[in-house]
Amino acid sequence: MESAGARATWFCLGDVASKHRTLIRELARRGHEIGSHGMSHAKLDRLGESAARRELVDSRSLLEDVSGTSVRGFRAPSFSITRRNLWALDGILDAGYAYDSSVFPIGRPDYGISGFPLGPHRLTAPSGRSLIEFPMTVATCFGARMPVSGGGYFRLLPYAVTKWGFTRVNATGRSGMFYMHPWEIDAEQPDLRREAGAVGAFRHYTGLAATEGRLRRLVGDFAFTRVDEVLAAAGLL
Ligand SMILES: [Zn+2]
Repeated sequence: MESAGARATWFCLGDVASKHRTLIRELARRGHEIGSHGMSHAKLDRLGESAARRELVDSRSLLEDVSGTSVRGFRAPSFSITRRNLWALDGILDAGYAYDSSVFPIGRPDYGISGFPLGPHRLTAPSGRSLIEFPMTVATCFGARMPVSGGGYFRLLPYAVTKWGFTRVNATGRSGMFYMHPWEIDAEQPDLRREAGAVGAFRHYTGLAATEGRLRRLVGDFAFTRVDEVLAAAGLL
């Protein structure tokens, strides 16, 4: 990524940062943005409001301490902000974040908000305060919303699908959001295939070796930078 001149926002887990302090500090030193992905990777709706609020506060202060930078962005584990737990938006504001990037603007049984605005915007939290939101990127095709932001869609479908999606999104004047977890390009990770079960193993391991090559193409085909810079350029932050 750096060889292509790209920078990124790394939404880090507090539990990982406390064990790998030099890694987080080095990312910040190289000009990347450090954001929070919570402490434990537990979904916010599963944690419940008081524990989720605690993770929002604790992870932010720990990551600021470890990175030596201010932490302004939050990404909920597994996109776990839906219509059922909008209190999380106020938790994010109360913990001092400037923006959230957790909503998948698509209706799925376990995540996403259907009909949600597609690009970065200001939303109104239940308390009436405003918060900047950068939703995951979907491309629209014949009125249907198709996720093109990463994850299994990026690993399992041909690269051309992602390229088509981002080209389409950029053509409408919107910036796109691409995300991935480190394990998605780590072909050396411990093999848990037997424990994961057939469907889980297929989703988890398929395309790992090819994913790094695809990522190189993606950062060559499009310009990527930190979320805070994209929001500042859009006049939101
Ligand atoms: Zn995650």
